[in-house]
Amino acid sequence: MAIHSLCSPTPELACFACCPPLRPPGYDHLDYRSSLTRLLSENRGAFLAGHRPSRVIQGFWCPGLGFLDPAGRRVGCLLHPAANQGRDLRGPTGYRDKCHRESCAEARAFDQLAQPPRTRLMELCAAMDSFVFSSRRANPVMRLLALGPATAAAAAELPGLSLAELTAWPWLSRVDPALGWLIGRLVAETGPELLRRPELHGDLQRLVHRLRRALGPRPPLDQGQPLHQVMADQWQARFWRYVLKRNRALAGQTQTWQAALAAACQHFPA
Ligand code: SF4
Repeated sequence: MAIHSLCSPTPELACFACCPPLRPPGYDHLDYRSSLTRLLSENRGAFLAGHRPSRVIQGFWCPGLGFLDPAGRRVGCLLHPAANQGRDLRGPTGYRDKCHRESCAEARAFDQLAQPPRTRLMELCAAMDSFVFSSRRANPVMRLLALGPATAAAAAELPGLSLAELTAWPWLSRVDPALGWLIGRLVAETGPELLRRPELHGDLQRLVHRLRRALGPRPPLDQGQPLHQVMADQWQARFWRYVLKRNRALAGQTQTWQAALAAACQHFPA
C-alpha cells in the first residue's frame, strides 16, 4: 500500500504534533499524556454524539482533536475532511485555513522520499501510538526526518536498522537539524554507514568550525538575493543560513561557499 503523508501514513499511525495550531514553544503532547487521554476520549464521545464546535478555539485546546479509533491509538482531527467523507467541519473553530496550511520539516522531507524508504521508516514506527509517534523527543524517526530527505533516505538503506539502534545513535538527538543537508552530502560520498559513527556529532562540529573560519566573519550587512531564491534546495539554504547566519547571498558568492565546503570536507572526519 502506497504511503502518502507523514501526518497519517498508515491506518495504525497518525501524528498530531502540530494540532491544535496554537501551542507554546517546545510543547510535546507526550508530557500531558494522562490528562490529554481523557480529553481526547471526551471529544470523540461528543463528536459521535453529534456535537460540533460552536465557537472559535481559545487557548491551547481544540474540541475537534480526538481519538480517531475506538481503541484510542490514533489521534487526529475529528473535523477534517479525510474523516468525514470529504466534508470539512473545521470552520467553526476559526482555524480552518491555518490548520490547512500547517506543515513541518519532517513532513516535507517525507514527501520527497520514494515509497521504499517511506515504508521502511514507518515499519520502524509500527508499534507506536500517536503520542509517541508525534513526539520529536521520543520518536527518533521524526528526528531523522527533521534532517531532510537525503539523510532519512540513507538511514532507511542501512541493513538491519532497528528502532533500538536508531534511538541509541548519540548524535541524532544532539545535532542541529540544519546540518542534515551536510550529512546527506557526506553520506553521498562515503556511504550510509557513516550514520552509524558514534563520533559523528563532534566530526560535524569540527567541519563546521573549519568552514566558518575559512569564510571569515559575517559582514555587517546581509546583501543580495534571499537564499531560498538563490538555492532551489530548501535543505541546502537552511544549512547555509545556520552556518553563516546569513539570509542572503550576492552573485557568485555561493560558489565561494561551495569551494570552501569542498576543501573543509577533504579532511573529514578529522
Ligand atoms: S507535525 Fe508535521 S507530520 Fe505531524 S501532523 Fe503536523 S504537519 Fe503532519
